[in-house]
Amino acid sequence: MADTIFDKIVRREIPADIVYENDELLAFRDLNPQAPVHVLFIPKKAIPTLDDAAPEDAALLGRLLLAVADYARREGFAEQGYRVVNNCREYGGQTVYHLHLHVLAGRRMGWPPG
Ligand code: 5GP
Repeated sequence: MADTIFDKIVRREIPADIVYENDELLAFRDLNPQAPVHVLFIPKKAIPTLDDAAPEDAALLGRLLLAVADYARREGFAEQGYRVVNNCREYGGQTVYHLHLHVLAGRRMGWPPG
């Protein structure tokens, strides 16, 4: 499986502004933020895209989503609201092939997305 920039962040080979970590998940600020809060939540396990997730990843992905919700509550933007995005492959706009959730907050989001 191809190594990505996010695997290097997990291994601390390149720096990142890490905001949350446990044994299986990592969250860090996006290098090119699209909102006042823009954090990426990833499983440390290198799943390239959502389409590559397998049934045995179901609990991991559930915990990933719940970690986002927990973070939003702790950081105080849950009540106001926020957006969680997964870009899957080319037409989804994915550029880093290590599954991740974008967490965007701190401004009102538009719809539909571009
Ligand atoms: P995607 O386009 O794959 O959904 O999202 C990849 C995200 O990773 C982009 O928002 C991009 O700004 C961010 N990104 C790319 N390289 C780095 C990096 O080295 N460090 C951090 N913190 N974010 C990165």
